[in-house]
Amino acid sequence: MFDLPVLNITETALHDNEQGSPVFDMLDMPNAPITRATRKLYVETYGCAMNVSDSEIVMGVMHKSGYVMTDKPDDADVILLNTCAIRDGAERKIHERLKHLKFYKRKRRDLVIGILGCMAERMRDELITEKQIVDLVVGPDEYRALPQLIAKAYEGEKGIAVKLSRVETYDDIVPLRTEGISAWISVSRGCDKFCTFCVVPFTRGRERSRSLQLIVDEAKQLWDSGFKEITLLGQNVNSYHDDASNQDFADLLARTARAVPQMRIRYSTSHPYDMSDKLIETMAEHDNVCKYVHLPVQSGSDRVLEAMNRHYTIAHYIERMQKIKDVMPQCALSTDIIVGFPTETEEEHQMTMALMQEVRYDGAFMFKYSPREKTKAWKMGDDVSEEVKTRRLSEIIEQQHQISHEINQTTIGTIERVLVEGLSRRDSTAWQGRTDSNKRTMFTHITNAGELNAEGKTAGYVVGDTVTVRIQRATSATLIGEIVLNS
Ligand code: SF4
Repeated sequence: MFDLPVLNITETALHDNEQGSPVFDMLDMPNAPITRATRKLYVETYGCAMNVSDSEIVMGVMHKSGYVMTDKPDDADVILLNTCAIRDGAERKIHERLKHLKFYKRKRRDLVIGILGCMAERMRDELITEKQIVDLVVGPDEYRALPQLIAKAYEGEKGIAVKLSRVETYDDIVPLRTEGISAWISVSRGCDKFCTFCVVPFTRGRERSRSLQLIVDEAKQLWDSGFKEITLLGQNVNSYHDDASNQDFADLLARTARAVPQMRIRYSTSHPYDMSDKLIETMAEHDNVCKYVHLPVQSGSDRVLEAMNRHYTIAHYIERMQKIKDVMPQCALSTDIIVGFPTETEEEHQMTMALMQEVRYDGAFMFKYSPREKTKAWKMGDDVSEEVKTRRLSEIIEQQHQISHEINQTTIGTIERVLVEGLSRRDSTAWQGRTDSNKRTMFTHITNAGELNAEGKTAGYVVGDTVTVRIQRATSATLIGEIVLNS
């Protein structure tokens, strides 16, 4: 999960989108008869995009068993928290949330509360014994068992299902997606890399890939149902391999790009070890594959990378970055950085700063090292003090903001193609969307959407359209521009 884009997804983000309407529109799912007994399910998702995608699978499984979704916890018969265990802070959030949920349980004795995801897998029966209000603990590979476990919980039997699978990919489950223009498609599950700081191999098991044909079919279905953009997801998406057809991730990307030529295709997250020339060239060959690569480096020191068991050197990493820039000069780059890994010296911290200066990322996800039980790094102790971690993190963030700001200044005066996502959260007179290179862009229109402009022409665009924007200003995080008419 370290590698996947950590979206600051809390329940609010998922449960009241900008329009404030219930977010669940049951796409391509047979309508379950709404009977007196129809039970309502409320799902809260924490952590990374893989968990968002898993929550859609969970809702798909539950809907097939006759549940309907609700976006209000006090309206629910079943509340499921899909949790993250990547850092201590992520788990503390769940403990806090369970304190709130006590209120609902007191109000409704028959309310069923379940913990899903990586924290469920990591803490297992501890959650049941420690937390009276928890009725179910279900790991990422056991979601098919949810309807039965919930039925037993109604009879007063607490349930725990945390077996990790070497084969489970939920290939036949149709995720229940919220309406929108961007969708996640998980193409593989688990991870075999065993980075010494990471819990993912212990909470999500061994790597396994879905069938290439079913992924391509799913992309076509999503296009037909109005989605404009997909992100192919995996802990290590570029180590994807379809054994049946002996095809790798570059093949999957090319097949998907050809199958839905109008659709924007993104993928996340890659590992430097598996970033092949074939993948880089495949990206360049297909216009609808977005020119944005998220490639976590974690540290600028070979000694620290070895202690992290990352399987590459800085020389290899820089060579891969140079290859991407040579083949796709316009490609935007981002990364993950961990500061304060056990035994990291001040000199090695400066190496990380120097690497970020050399690569000049468009953006980065930057974290303090958080010791996790069961991981190899746990045994190394946590010898970098909190104070030093905080100082190193703020130095890295400050430097990255400066670099992002400088890079975004170079877009002023240029023309960008932006996928319209909706009205800006910050300025209701502006719209927002993202460029092909994944830069958030706010843009105004000389007329409000739908109104006629001076030439008697309408704005003529809606959410999901791709429009042309001339960039006028930029911050380290956002480009601001104006729409170029009739483009
Ligand atoms: S073990 Fe390493 S490669 Fe795998 S998910 Fe964790 S950080 Fe990513």
